[in-house]
Amino acid sequence: MIPKIESVIGKATASDLAGRKHADGEPFNGTLPKHGGVKIPTSCPRCADLLITEGAFLKCQNMQCPARTVRALTYWCQALEMDGIGEKLAKQFDESGLVTRISQLYSISKKDLLSLERMAEKSANNILKEINSSRIMPLSKFIHALGISGIGPELAALVAQKMKTIEALMLAVEDWKKDEEKSIEQLTSIDGIGEKVAEQLYSGLEIRKTMIEELIEALEISEESETPNKGKLSGSTFCVTGTLSKSRKEVQLAIKGEGGKVVSSVSANLDYLVAGENAGSKLTKAEKLGVKVLDEKTLVDLINENLDSNASSPKTLFDF
Ligand SMILES: [Zn+2]
Repeated sequence: MIPKIESVIGKATASDLAGRKHADGEPFNGTLPKHGGVKIPTSCPRCADLLITEGAFLKCQNMQCPARTVRALTYWCQALEMDGIGEKLAKQFDESGLVTRISQLYSISKKDLLSLERMAEKSANNILKEINSSRIMPLSKFIHALGISGIGPELAALVAQKMKTIEALMLAVEDWKKDEEKSIEQLTSIDGIGEKVAEQLYSGLEIRKTMIEELIEALEISEESETPNKGKLSGSTFCVTGTLSKSRKEVQLAIKGEGGKVVSSVSANLDYLVAGENAGSKLTKAEKLGVKVLDEKTLVDLINENLDSNASSPKTLFDF
């Protein structure tokens, strides 16, 4: 059984403790803790900079804060699928002063690594190999790995396809500071990106400006290639309906990310209807028209594996 709260019966009193025993039968002699509000810290315990409230979170706004660097570095390595560099090593990097900014990861030597506690030669070699394999990356990966809140891999890919180079993107950030609208429009002209996301991205890039400049020096960020039609779902149209485990927008972006086209209504020209719970009239119509219906899991399988049907291959004369 999963424990759950059924009702709140108010504060405990001394009488609630009377006659209580430990599991081994010993009488419980504890006292009730004093009531008091939680004292919310106003400054970062690590760098003493002012904390800001963001929804339910308290955040240190100092981008150079060591505590932030550990998190940012961990995220960076995860996003770039660098095996063997997790939070523990990121902490070691920070505590030893070896890597206090992400760009320093790319100037680390084997000797540096071996100076860390419990670092064996084999692990050091592996870590260097992982670091080296991430020296060249496309713009989409770079944007994603920066860990800007709200900007996942799908959105990063859309932005990268539009902006092509990191230089063009940072130029747009400069413009955004001078004339918000123009730069915002550059992003909102992309299908799937709204004003809020555009602002989140620009401000996220803006506060990471120094970090990005350092990374541009250390890395080779390659131009994003024109790939909207090379994904696993390219050539197929999709319509998404019903309740899915992710938001409908996220599912649509995942489809577009693989080159699929997303439409809003069911017709005989539709290749696939992705139907979640309570799909309703679109499902009925798709079944009537003989449109293939996919559940969410099958869609994920298609994205992860390959589209097995002939819908992805170019239409032959017989299809017309
Ligand atoms: Zn801090």
